[in-house]
Amino acid sequence: MRPEMTPPRLDLTETSVFLDFDGTISTRDIGLELLERHGRAGWRAIDAAFVRGEMGSRECVTAEWDLVEGTEAELLATAMEVTLDPGFPALVADLRSAGAEVAVLSDGFGFYVDAHCRAAGVTVAVYANRVDWDDRALRFPFGDPTCACRSCGVCKQAPIRAAAARGRATVMVGDGASDRKAAAVADVVFATAGLARWCEEAGVPFTPYATLRDVHAALLTP
Ligand SMILES: [Mg+2]
Ligand SMILES: [Zn+2]
Repeated sequence: MRPEMTPPRLDLTETSVFLDFDGTISTRDIGLELLERHGRAGWRAIDAAFVRGEMGSRECVTAEWDLVEGTEAELLATAMEVTLDPGFPALVADLRSAGAEVAVLSDGFGFYVDAHCRAAGVTVAVYANRVDWDDRALRFPFGDPTCACRSCGVCKQAPIRAAAARGRATVMVGDGASDRKAAAVADVVFATAGLARWCEEAGVPFTPYATLRDVHAALLTP
């Protein structure tokens, strides 16, 4: 299937927009950055199995987190070195002004998402995994045991389905393997990189984008 180059017109007062964090809001995948700089050997095979669809995201992120070494301060410092897409604050602000709901869906290590949004001056609902630094355990406050997949850390489908059930049109913006299930249920998909390739193969209609400015232009230009 060919990608849709232009998304359908949406009434933004009736629309909920969901943004992946790593590689979508951040310019690099911070999980991969942490693994490259602080991970013990073995994580690449785990990540490859996840991308091939052989492993759920919760199992993947748990196994990868077990390989990450360093203190909270060291890891947060590495995470904060990665820059965000400069279009992120304006996209959230202008979508809100137009009446849309906006939320961030992140199924990575999670501990840096709130800090990055705060540093960017963006207040937004965040669905992310958590690290309990007392015992260094990864926690899953947004796993959904009732979801058909049951294998996610953050179930990205759950908040999209909930918004749809409230009668909202749903938009998913993402780049990677953890966005596939969300893209499969959202009304409108903006995809780049691996998610765009997957949508092509799976026949999921999507609008390709390079940066969040493209998403801004597509959703907000009158
Ligand atoms: Mg991503
Ligand atoms: Zn799920």
